Amino acid sequence: MNIILFGPPGAGKGTQAQFIVKKHNYFQLSTGNLLREEVKLKTTFGSEIELLISNGKFVSDEIVNKLLKKSITNLKFRDRIIFDGYPRNVEQAKNLDLILDEFDQTIAHIIFLNVSRDVIEKRIMGRMTCDKCNMTLNEFFNKEQIELHPCGKEFLKKRKDDNLDIVVARYDTYMKTTKPVLDFYSKNVNFIEIDGALEINQITNKINEILNV
Ligand code: ADP
Repeated sequence: MNIILFGPPGAGKGTQAQFIVKKHNYFQLSTGNLLREEVKLKTTFGSEIELLISNGKFVSDEIVNKLLKKSITNLKFRDRIIFDGYPRNVEQAKNLDLILDEFDQTIAHIIFLNVSRDVIEKRIMGRMTCDKCNMTLNEFFNKEQIELHPCGKEFLKKRKDDNLDIVVARYDTYMKTTKPVLDFYSKNVNFIEIDGALEINQITNKINEILNV
């Protein structure tokens, strides 16, 4: 079963994806992470991407589609993908349907994490991600877990694009281009909305219920 986790930046998609990966043996396809990994490789392609990301802009559909196809065609991940942060516009949503169709796959659940902008600001300003294991924590809410992080707290880093101006830019972009994706998906029988302002484990429980049916 492939799944889409959908919602504004900071809604908790990455956080929940980590749990699904562990419990249900899934592969997390975060286009944000795929892009950041390309940046780390310091290729020309990577520098192009870096410039766009650090300005809070989206990279072109062409770039994302290229990275995406590579993962969807990987047999190891077949029918076990969580799309986290993708699709971000209606074009990408249509394109995802086409690629999945081409490789004889479908989306079993579209899970929408709905959160208001005030909550998001605090979450994003405190977000820290581990360079080694990709775990996401929050410096305001997870002080103890940060101290005890198994990879060592020195690996927990702030993302360059997590500052207030860029957060606002990302949220505006989300409202303009990503929200229409909701209309595209909300009519679908597989669409389900969860209140993203709930505690992390309450959301995880709801997702587990959905995945175990
Ligand atoms: P997204 O992938 O949707 O952009 P993240 O999963 O990276 O969001 O979460 C953003 C920040 O909010 C992180 O610091 C994370 O630890 C924190 N967070 C995620 N879900 C919750 C929640 N339900 N309650 C409180 N904080 C959360």
